[in-house]
Amino acid sequence: MSDLPDLLSMTREELRDFALSIGEKPYRGDQIFSFLSRGVDYDGMTSLSLTLREKLKTETEFRLPSVLTKKRSRDGLTEKYLLSLIDGECVECVLMRHDYGTSLCISSQVGCRMGCKFCASTLAGKVRDLYPSELLGQIIAVGNDSGERIDKLVMMGIGEPLDNYANTVKFLRILNDKDGIGLGLRNVSLSTCGIVPGIEKLAEEGLPVTLSVSLHAYRDDVRQKIMPVANKYSLDELLRACRFYFDKTGRRVSFEYTLIAGKNDSREDAIGLCRLLKEKMRVTSHVNIIPLNRVEETGFSPPDPASAERFAAILRTEGQNATVRRSMGADVDAACGQLRRSLQNQVKEL
Ligand code: SF4
Repeated sequence: MSDLPDLLSMTREELRDFALSIGEKPYRGDQIFSFLSRGVDYDGMTSLSLTLREKLKTETEFRLPSVLTKKRSRDGLTEKYLLSLIDGECVECVLMRHDYGTSLCISSQVGCRMGCKFCASTLAGKVRDLYPSELLGQIIAVGNDSGERIDKLVMMGIGEPLDNYANTVKFLRILNDKDGIGLGLRNVSLSTCGIVPGIEKLAEEGLPVTLSVSLHAYRDDVRQKIMPVANKYSLDELLRACRFYFDKTGRRVSFEYTLIAGKNDSREDAIGLCRLLKEKMRVTSHVNIIPLNRVEETGFSPPDPASAERFAAILRTEGQNATVRRSMGADVDAACGQLRRSLQNQVKEL
């Protein structure tokens, strides 16, 4: 990665200052911002002078990821992309076509160091954080390749967004700029495995994103066996931070619960989860139940097909909002990190 200015990681205000710093009028910064947000490369920025375009080409960097490969599910509703970054690393994102619009799930880091036991993304640890340009770049690259407008964004791919806090927050501010991609932050869902200080800090940023917290267990001892982060922050601390997030932002927090056969899928687990959320959140929240996608290396098994609905029914009987997440694109390795991992394995075998 070079030290050249990474223009796509700049806010519009920073680009105006940048324009001034190279002897241009500030409005040139606005023009560049708008071009970059659409993925237009330097040669395509035709309203800029040739001299300025040449200067940008040699003195700055445009870190737009490129499509390495993509896989479409048999039903055509899911498209999984493997994107190549400027330094040759790669990340995944998944485009999902729903009846209410198109959503894109993006990655926040190359690999992940959080160590969740059921997850393919963490098997080789974290390589590096993604820059704002690479977070935006996933939306731009997939949008341009598919020709589809992204209505909703989910930060639930490879990596932990709150472990890449500054870049994530800057990315959200650039994403929201109406002269750029202009996606409303209410259409963004940020998923975390439960980094308490990050949740508390995010609550103060004035960014109305939906917080989606991975619980996966209602007891600390069970959670600690599935997610190492639970050794650092107890459920009590985590749910206090979630309640704080709700109080500060007015945004309902949603909880992810990956159902793993024999680990967290009993009736007792369902009832314990309801009681915990009622007691700690004291406000309506939503639980997404996700039947585990099998990842060979983890040794965990998916629950039997009926048990997710059974689990959800118990939650609803107890007065807890719950839905079972439809497994989209299982035939395209849609579980987080699987496509990147299979590419790494192929490279190893070469
Ligand atoms: S589930 Fe998310 S936070 Fe946990 S290891 Fe995988 S990518 Fe990281």
